[in-house]
Amino acid sequence: MLTNGKRRVSYYYDPDVGNYYYSQGHPMKPHRMRMTHALIAAYGMFKHMAVQRPPRASEKDITRFHSDSYINFLKSASPEKVWDMNSSIRKFNVCEDCPVFDGLWEFCQISAGGSLAAASELNSGRADIAINWSGGLHHAKMSEASGFCYVNDCVLGILELLKCHTRVLYADIDIHHGDGVEEAFYTTDRVMTCSFHKFGDYFPGTGDIGDIGYGPGKYYSLNIPLYDGMDDESHREIFDAVMTKVMEWYQPGAVVLQGGADSLSGDRLGCFNLTIAGHSHCIDFFKKYNVPILMLGGGGYTIRNVARCWAYETSRALNLEIQEDIPYNEYLEYYGPEFRIQIHPSNMENRNTREYIENIKARTFEILRHLTPVPSVPFQETPNSYKGLERLHEKELDEEETKYADIRETVRQKERRTEHPCEFEDSDEEDLGALPSIRKNRRLVERETQVMEKDRTEREIEQSHSKMEAKSLAE
Ligand SMILES: [Zn+2]
Repeated sequence: MLTNGKRRVSYYYDPDVGNYYYSQGHPMKPHRMRMTHALIAAYGMFKHMAVQRPPRASEKDITRFHSDSYINFLKSASPEKVWDMNSSIRKFNVCEDCPVFDGLWEFCQISAGGSLAAASELNSGRADIAINWSGGLHHAKMSEASGFCYVNDCVLGILELLKCHTRVLYADIDIHHGDGVEEAFYTTDRVMTCSFHKFGDYFPGTGDIGDIGYGPGKYYSLNIPLYDGMDDESHREIFDAVMTKVMEWYQPGAVVLQGGADSLSGDRLGCFNLTIAGHSHCIDFFKKYNVPILMLGGGGYTIRNVARCWAYETSRALNLEIQEDIPYNEYLEYYGPEFRIQIHPSNMENRNTREYIENIKARTFEILRHLTPVPSVPFQETPNSYKGLERLHEKELDEEETKYADIRETVRQKERRTEHPCEFEDSDEEDLGALPSIRKNRRLVERETQVMEKDRTEREIEQSHSKMEAKSLAE
């Protein structure tokens, strides 16, 4: 696992990802991945890890989880055709929060391709930590877009890891509940999902402490509902306490960490008060264990802090000490006036009292007490690894490495041609009232919650689960 005490890190990035644009005023900005990448480059981290451009996920790769009809729709949807597709738009929940934008399908292929390639790299044993900041889109459902997410790369990455690992742990520190991933693995003990999120009158409305899984998956979904103002100290206390028990009892073969940065202080949609040091503690926590880690992105809407956070967390993965002053890079103006990598917490009140944290800990430990330590599955033949990556490794890796020997150059050239003129003006300080905010969409949340409750009948859960299992394990 360790080579001279260092983790071998593989980092996945497609230079096109920053070119996609949801819509005017939409808080989700793929440009933040480009800013992150530029910052990682400026800190000189490329020479410490394998920087790879992942192959884009195919329709076949993506329908290992998503339904064929939904994926056909995503492939064919375009902003020009959107008015002719009224019934599909309602059916697949492609709306204000999840608009049809130019290149939507390619964007999904890039995000999913990165997580699949990263998972496959961990399976091959070539890396101890694999990073895809373009991933972590945890709200997407089997047949429905949700919360700015269309294709659930987290689920696809986990399915890939399950080819080589009996048990996979999914930990989610985005401020929103990791509902899409939880729902996908709600009935199995092969994946334990654990989400730390704001709960109560907040998107997506799910993730109560009593939601613990179903059937064979009972006790293998954990939800840690939190209030506004969560700070580093309280987060660390609850995260370490719960995760220490989970690692001890569940002993996962691999860990997927969804690192949504909307749990940081000052996020445009969030209401927690974590600093980057507090957020990145979760990476240091898992690094203590001898287990492969897939690090994904997620939410994050104050984009200068998202880039700070994910660049810093890349340095944590590499065990590199980086300077506090942000080095020169093409987006330097975003980081003023301090030009520092770390951020300060605000003076907001932490509504998670000591008593509350103790109570949540106690209730979570009670759930974990029912867990069968280290559940096993019957022996199965190891399915083939992710085809796209095999192709890359066999034929194209040398070529790709040469091409990306100076990825900075490539990215700069691309940006000169394609950077969206609205990106910088459309700043974090933009009028919130004009936004299709995730928080505002209460009707949709209520409808989704009601539908979800109704739909969670035994039969439907079994059907969806068996479809997924069949797809993931038969290949
Ligand atoms: Zn989020």
